[in-house]
Amino acid sequence: MNIILLGPPGAGKGTQAGFLVEERGMVQLSTGDMLREARSSGTEMGQKVAAIMDAGNLVTDEIVIGLIAEKLEQGAAGGFIFDGFPRTLAQADALGELLAQKGETLDAVIEMEVDDETLVARIVNRAAEAVAAGKEARADDNEESVRIRLVEYYKKTAPLIGYYHAKGNLTKIDGLAEIDQVRGSIANILG
Ligand code: ADP
Repeated sequence: MNIILLGPPGAGKGTQAGFLVEERGMVQLSTGDMLREARSSGTEMGQKVAAIMDAGNLVTDEIVIGLIAEKLEQGAAGGFIFDGFPRTLAQADALGELLAQKGETLDAVIEMEVDDETLVARIVNRAAEAVAAGKEARADDNEESVRIRLVEYYKKTAPLIGYYHAKGNLTKIDGLAEIDQVRGSIANILG
């Protein structure tokens, strides 16, 4: 089973993906994590995307589609969870093609709904907690970048809601519920 967790930054996609990895042996593909990894290992691509990410803008479709294509090659017996990808209609089309080439299907798209002020508060809080724990906060976890990430989300990613709705595989859940309740809603959808 292959699924997409769709929702704005801070909606809790990564947290829920973690549960699915544990419970179902799925493989999480987070383009955000892959890009951060590329940055910290200092690859040419990582250096190229660093400033774009820190500002809160989207990196090019070509780069993220390339990253995903590479991971799909490796296969996943328990299926893939796409987290933070696709984020544009072009990425959604590319994912559809990549899966079709492998004879795979996209089985569910779960939209996690959360209001903007909660998102900003969660992300700013995540940064403060990281610092309190003696870790470094993500460079894009500040209010200015979060607001830009939200605008990017509404402009470029929210159209995917209509796209997947039209394809018949979209389900919305309340991302403001307690973590365990959200976990339960996702389990119900996936069966
Ligand atoms: P969040 O969901 O909290 O914004 P992510 O870790 O998913 O965080 O993404 C961090 C940044 O990485 C994004 O703001 C963007 O710059 C880049 N990025 C991640 N995934 C994509 C994607 N699919 N397309 C374009 N840019 C992406």
